[in-house]
Amino acid sequence: MDLESDVRFMREALKVATQDGADPALSPIGCVIVMEGKIVAAERNHVARHHDAVAHAEIEAIRKAGRTFDNGELRGATLYTTLQPCGMCTMASIWSKVGRIVFGAGRRDVHQMYFEARHVDTLDFVANAYRDDLSIEGGVLRDDCSKLYYRPWDKVPLVKQGNK
Ligand SMILES: [Zn+2]
Repeated sequence: MDLESDVRFMREALKVATQDGADPALSPIGCVIVMEGKIVAAERNHVARHHDAVAHAEIEAIRKAGRTFDNGELRGATLYTTLQPCGMCTMASIWSKVGRIVFGAGRRDVHQMYFEARHVDTLDFVANAYRDDLSIEGGVLRDDCSKLYYRPWDKVPLVKQGNK
């Protein structure tokens, strides 16, 4: 897909991310899944609302989009997410058979609290996957996305750091 489409769909992901507000405390992470130029799912993080520790935006979107396909497989789909997917969501993307992952803010743009592994970058999961039909790229609307999150230099209280 071209950059213009990537920007357009990332704006949709930003919209769904911030539908309840843009404060980092609200975990405004949004994900849209696009197939054949159409959005088939647009979900935000629902961990707090659903009391579900794994209700990340990508998981929610993969589940919603997958309902209409055999085995929930999303071949040919592009998954847009405002923040580089965590390990769980990267693996879920691999299993869901999406063809492309596009993210806004990357691991180095945000606080470490958004990632579970100290030295494993989730980009490596994709690079090491058995699948050869999957790509991942980041930095689309990086600044707009990054400012939604706690930044590397922010002092975040331990209790708010979801990875601890
Ligand atoms: Zn995740």
